[in-house]
Amino acid sequence: MIINGGYKLDFSYSKLSYTVQKKSDTVLVLKEVFDKKRDSLKLPVGMSCLLSFYILLYHNRYISYLNAIFENNSSESAIKNFDLIILLIITATISILYLLLKEFKKAKDRYDGLRKDLIKTINSEVCTCKNTCDCKDAYIKFMEEKGIDLIFI
Ligand SMILES: [Zn+2]
Repeated sequence: MIINGGYKLDFSYSKLSYTVQKKSDTVLVLKEVFDKKRDSLKLPVGMSCLLSFYILLYHNRYISYLNAIFENNSSESAIKNFDLIILLIITATISILYLLLKEFKKAKDRYDGLRKDLIKTINSEVCTCKNTCDCKDAYIKFMEEKGIDLIFI
């Protein structure tokens, strides 16, 4: 039973049809995976921003390094150790970010695919009640509280 802002709805997971139960269980797991993948992006995104800001701030030095490389004049403008470390870290961070983004996209597609499939399923069947009931509304609200939107495609 869910009590939501004075609006009382009878809802029991066991009244849901077997298909909806199964799909709900899976979509909840996929949502968890999706959230984890999204959270894993925060650190590398933050680091990339900070490091890019550093490079932007000292872009003159980096341009002079590039010039030295193209003019094959490495002795004149040897890259400072610290600048080199920053460059290596940003390269590594962006590579990691790229891989994490790919995983995130995969998780998002799987989650969203099943979510949309579930929306289609509950349009034709939600519960095993014989009479008219408000299981569908209650179910949509229940899933909404779990962070899963079953209204908008
Ligand atoms: Zn029902």
